[in-house]
Amino acid sequence: MFPVCFLQEAKMLNRILYNYIKIRRRHTFTVKELEQESLWKLKRLVRYAWLNVPFYSRKMRQAGLTPDEIHSLDDLAKLPIIPKSELMSQPKSEVLAHNMHLWNVLIRHTTGTTGKPSKIFWSNAYADYVTALRFVNTWRLGIGLNQKVMNIEFYGPQKIAPSKGYRVPNPLREVKKATIGPWVAPGLMSFRWKKLGFQRSVEEMVEEVIRFKPAGVFSRASYLRKLGKALESYAPRPEINKVLITGEIITESCKKDIHASLGSEVFETYGAMEFGSIGLECAAHDGLHLQPHLIVEVLKDGHKVGPGESGEVVITNLENTLMPFIRYKLGDIAVVGPSDGCECGSRLARLSQVVGRPQEVLVTPAGTRVYSREIIRTIERQVGVTDFQIEQNEAGDIRVRLPPCHGFEVIKSDIVHILKGFLGEGVPISCEVWNQDFRIPKYRPVFSRRVVA
Ligand SMILES: [Zn+2]
Repeated sequence: MFPVCFLQEAKMLNRILYNYIKIRRRHTFTVKELEQESLWKLKRLVRYAWLNVPFYSRKMRQAGLTPDEIHSLDDLAKLPIIPKSELMSQPKSEVLAHNMHLWNVLIRHTTGTTGKPSKIFWSNAYADYVTALRFVNTWRLGIGLNQKVMNIEFYGPQKIAPSKGYRVPNPLREVKKATIGPWVAPGLMSFRWKKLGFQRSVEEMVEEVIRFKPAGVFSRASYLRKLGKALESYAPRPEINKVLITGEIITESCKKDIHASLGSEVFETYGAMEFGSIGLECAAHDGLHLQPHLIVEVLKDGHKVGPGESGEVVITNLENTLMPFIRYKLGDIAVVGPSDGCECGSRLARLSQVVGRPQEVLVTPAGTRVYSREIIRTIERQVGVTDFQIEQNEAGDIRVRLPPCHGFEVIKSDIVHILKGFLGEGVPISCEVWNQDFRIPKYRPVFSRRVVA
């Protein structure tokens, strides 16, 4: 048993280190070098999926294509776009590669407020790639490997966060493995990381932050705002140099708020359960650089849009061979970033912002989506409040939750007025007092349970 574990660990550490060096190097590549590498990997992926994944070979046959017809990155457009709902409704035997074992993989669950949760399978090698990517991302933020990072996330009310000790970093936490080896290595490597669950009180979190003294804190915007408020009264205020906002659409004013209360440099990130990290804001703060192993297309009516324009995000993952994602339509809307070189030196393509996630919308009676960034920005600007939640039910009616505050009635009617402006007069809107309980799973400022085709 022991030598087997050891072998697993050694292999994994080796892979993480190898990927770390490789991913770091890609930030020094020229556009041409990046494209050459992507093309080579794309050809490899398409051929692999054609041979081993029934779903893709069927799709390609239907489109009258063979892997030999991929000669350039533009040829990717010949392949069909796969909507999330289509891929997720397939039986696993259709979408998983036939030549891979299932005993040693990582299974992730997509959480959706609409639709069923579905399983995402990562090969062992891809899980290690993502772990390496996490270290590269941390380096990109300017946090050294010797500095401490605190991850504050929602565990769910049923799980108790440990008061002390280190936790295995995120992707591998859920890994279902036959050996104990792979569990140990990331724990050893990441002894400068600490994970906290948000179901503890803000005071307890503040204590943890003061005790741990992290150089960087990674969390959701709403949690960071609470933490910032609570830390304001502490003197001397703990020094948090960098803050990374994960998993939530945020506005510029929200970033400024967090910067003002925590005194940290604020970075935005973009990710999805299917891929892990997709994009990361760099030190030049001019958009989010896309990860080198993904081909991210931003499309409107099937055509690529130019810098400054918005469209639907379609992603091809060049690394995960167990469950390939080729031209996968995630459902997010993003704006393409500037195409000229970034000040930070990296030539990786950029998104200037992510406008909306699938459920983070409100839907008008006619079926048009209004994206959360637009709604949040308008409410922040015109009403001046940042703490609220707007939820739309399946039937289309809206519920606004507001914390008890001074001028509650005025704020309430202002928000109702704004929402009617977006959605039309006919939409029923109700308001309730909200005790700002963040114990609800995955707090989102705006979300809809209405399913739109
Ligand atoms: Zn940059």
